[in-house]
Amino acid sequence: MVKRTKPVYTSTFQRFIEHSEQSTYIEIPFQMPQNVEKIHVSYQVESYGIESAKAVIDVGVRDSDSVRGWSGGARQEFNIGPNQATPGYLPGHLAPGEWAILHNAYKVPVEGCMVSIIIKFTYKSPRWLKGDLHTHSVHSDGTYTLEENAAIMESLGCDFIAMTDHNTSSQNLAYPRGTSVLMIPGTEFTTNFGHSNFLGVKNPMDDFRVSEISDVHEKFRVARERGAKIVLNHTHCDNCPWEWDFEVDYDWVEIWNGPWGERNRRALFWWQEQLASGRRLVAVGGSDVHRPDTYVKHAMPCVWVWTDERTVEGVLKGIEGGHVVMTHSPDGPFANLQCGEYGIGDQVPYEQADQQVVVQLDDLLAGDLIRLYSERGLEEETSADSVGGVTLTFNAKQRRFLRAEIWRSFKQADGMSMAVVTNPIYFESK
Ligand SMILES: [Zn+2]
Ligand SMILES: [Zn+2]
Repeated sequence: MVKRTKPVYTSTFQRFIEHSEQSTYIEIPFQMPQNVEKIHVSYQVESYGIESAKAVIDVGVRDSDSVRGWSGGARQEFNIGPNQATPGYLPGHLAPGEWAILHNAYKVPVEGCMVSIIIKFTYKSPRWLKGDLHTHSVHSDGTYTLEENAAIMESLGCDFIAMTDHNTSSQNLAYPRGTSVLMIPGTEFTTNFGHSNFLGVKNPMDDFRVSEISDVHEKFRVARERGAKIVLNHTHCDNCPWEWDFEVDYDWVEIWNGPWGERNRRALFWWQEQLASGRRLVAVGGSDVHRPDTYVKHAMPCVWVWTDERTVEGVLKGIEGGHVVMTHSPDGPFANLQCGEYGIGDQVPYEQADQQVVVQLDDLLAGDLIRLYSERGLEEETSADSVGGVTLTFNAKQRRFLRAEIWRSFKQADGMSMAVVTNPIYFESK
């Protein structure tokens, strides 16, 4: 889980085009390697002969199945990524295999011309992506349009948002275009006895109305069958806690809903009990933002997910693996746990379980409290004495898990408040 720069690989091609090839299509084949996330293609044409007879060579690209995009003579370069591409090109998966740059040799001088192409392949690589898993819009009781939500997340430097409007999926059919923010399909299944988020599918249910627990089981079953991940929301809230059975078939629990407070503290305490009992339960958070507010704001808390793919599937897969850290805002501070090659959400094999866990804390302020928890409860508490980063080591021998918290004194909060919660790193026991 070490922070790495994205690996980029560049290929260059040259092709001399004869005058006799004028008015024909030319293919310059190239291999699309495995695990490429994004390509950038640029080309230049050098004409031979007299200036007035310059070459006109159009460009496009095909993948192993079909033409993937065409810009004619309008552009010298283009990008194709998983979610975004230059207009005229189709974003999406870059399937490995034989691809080709396409040219239309519209005009070629008598002396011919030379086309030079540079293709930059950016490989998938693990990294932290950040965003908000619980927000609302005008599609339920929020005041933000989908475009406003996306623009705010973009301005915060966030990678993803789930717009989880209450008991509707119309927001999932109206995502704004032209935003770099990933739209994670979401619906907040809102009942009179508790709320839960269905994430990852656009239409997780046909009817939200329930009157007894067997109905809830059925909604969960259908949502799951359609591919949704299920989060129990603000379980220990004063107004709308989870009053249905906790034995329902859910995936994750929201322990941090909006500004830190007693309800979140109770959910955190409950989660710690679950972990201590031997359960592996992924904790997530979300702002639950509805409208402009002094305290409830987008990406507060901010959910960080370690994943090798900047796609909706990549984010959900990262959460599923427990590779999740929550911070009070997108600006950190940040905490990471590493034991050898294993990180947050991973299980360290028994043979390596007496290794030191390296706890890396970044962007601290003097007075921040760092707390490490295992199934035994609070293991260690340290206070940061200056601004910056701190590295702690912890011997995790005979522990089942370790997780970190950072507490900070915020001026708007009374006393210390949560700044960071990590999910645990787990240790195999025998
Ligand atoms: Zn709710
Ligand atoms: Zn909500």
